[in-house]
Amino acid sequence: MSTISEAQQLLQKYYGYSSFRSGQEEIIKNILQGRDTLGIMPTGGGKSVCYQIPALMQDGTTLVISPLISLMKDQVDSLESHGIAATYINSSLEQKEVSARIRKAGKESYKLLYIAPERLESERFIALLQTLPISMVAIDEAHCISQWGHDFRPCYLSIAKLIQELPNRPVVTAFTATATQEVQLDILRLLNMKGSHMVVTGFNRENLALSILREGNKKDFILRYIKQNKNQAGIVYAATRKEVEDVFETLRKQGIAVGKYHAGLSDEERIASQDAFLFDDLRVMVATNAFGMGIDKSNVRFVLHHNMPKTMEAYYQEAGRAGRDGEPSECILLFSPQDIQLQKFLIEQSASAPERKMNEYKRLQLMVEFCHTPQCLANAILHYFGERDHSEPCGRCGNCKDERELTDITVEAQKIFSCIRRMKERFGVSFIADVLKGAANKRVRQYSFDSLPTYGAMREYKDKEITDLIHVLVAEGYIALTDGQYPVAKLTSKAAAVLHSEASVYQRVWNRRKESFSSLDQLLFEQLRVLRKELSTRDRVPPYVIFPDSTLRELSEKIPTEAASMLRIKGVGEVKFAKY
Ligand code: ADP
Ligand code: MG
Repeated sequence: MSTISEAQQLLQKYYGYSSFRSGQEEIIKNILQGRDTLGIMPTGGGKSVCYQIPALMQDGTTLVISPLISLMKDQVDSLESHGIAATYINSSLEQKEVSARIRKAGKESYKLLYIAPERLESERFIALLQTLPISMVAIDEAHCISQWGHDFRPCYLSIAKLIQELPNRPVVTAFTATATQEVQLDILRLLNMKGSHMVVTGFNRENLALSILREGNKKDFILRYIKQNKNQAGIVYAATRKEVEDVFETLRKQGIAVGKYHAGLSDEERIASQDAFLFDDLRVMVATNAFGMGIDKSNVRFVLHHNMPKTMEAYYQEAGRAGRDGEPSECILLFSPQDIQLQKFLIEQSASAPERKMNEYKRLQLMVEFCHTPQCLANAILHYFGERDHSEPCGRCGNCKDERELTDITVEAQKIFSCIRRMKERFGVSFIADVLKGAANKRVRQYSFDSLPTYGAMREYKDKEITDLIHVLVAEGYIALTDGQYPVAKLTSKAAAVLHSEASVYQRVWNRRKESFSSLDQLLFEQLRVLRKELSTRDRVPPYVIFPDSTLRELSEKIPTEAASMLRIKGVGEVKFAKY
């Protein structure tokens, strides 16, 4: 009897969840009927359960192909914490250990065996897999197989060969969170999936509040945000290694428990940094896009983008790492026009073929448009991924819910514009700021700018405040910066209207959302968090593997005092109940 009600019982028993989420039931039904299935569900939607439960219900072993070593260990830890027999094989293991695990797998000791796709490039390893009783192959992050996807990995192309060479063709299942239609078709075709049953639950993430801000000083904003959101874990993405280092240093100097991650660090440094973040020893991770694929840390409360990413897929995948536990989380993209230049530069620098470059420019343009849309941001994303039936605005994003306060900066803007005009629109931001500040340096005197009426017009401001204001005016389209290494500031027609006092200029100052959680609950929650950290150290698994934040939250609200009520808390299954 392999029915959905049996699957439901397993969900309760092992995971402590009482019902399936949207899409899970349909995917599991399909799999149990032996049909190949492609599941497209948002990050945090619960894709793992979709193959783990059928794995428990089928004879033999389910082979899971998963792109990152860290993810594998995590998933196996998590399965073991639920009382499910699982293991992994990847390059972190010695050959002896690999053989031992293969032998045990041959005796059907595991329900799930995780492997890295790189392994499939070895004929010898494929031969070993042929000796195992593999009933199903589950491919996680399946978009990596498509060269139109944003994380193309050539080794994913070997998966089809493996499936073909297994003595009994297994059920093939594939999962991804971000795939345009082009990529979806590629997955079905390249994996040679039969009958192509596709279950798309949509890309909507109801717990994410997206916003795009134009901040004069991004680092200050990030620092302020992180200080305001005490105790919460988050990721800051920056476009280049250098920027990662800059932001990291700024935060570190302020005593924030922060780590960094980029391709310029050694493997050991990256692993150490990632582990510290997973184990809640670091609160904030500053990283390039090299960080995060397959990071299943569920209690990431915010993702800040220091720069605009190069595509919508990359953006949504990175932002989507916030709030996997379903708790309200925030994703803030700090846009500046220089980001466009930077991305264009990165495209030019890449070794891509011309056709691919054109495609990258096209996708960059869509990303830029997203940053400027006045529409609901959640809807704009759904629209991008081809979901047309979401007409209701989300009510959570920056455009739906403008929480920023408006400050009139017309007078300051007029001073700046007037100064730029009097300097003949031939200089860069910092020199303009010098003149407004009334700096007495050689260059100012050389051009006789100390005799301009705007010289010293903003004397009472700090240098940085002036340059920040100028950058806000750039972001709002009053000032245009020319291309090149030394951009020159020019006024746009929008600025002319302000100079003629025909329009006012407002700056939006961002204001933090209030906590809705009661203070008593919060206290209890904090205590449970400390306890979870102790258990995590004792058992050497990341804290969120013990319980996600949402479970701690429910515990601190409901305060169960007996077994039955404790087992009703989401995330408390039988094994975890007994253990903790
Ligand atoms: P994905 O791989 O789709 O990003 P995961 O499989 O990591 O998501 O699941 C995200 C979180 O949702 C995990 O903490 C998981 O335990 C939880 N989850 C999965 N299914 C359910 C469910 N039916 N009810 C409640 N929580 C669930
Ligand atoms: Mg996953």
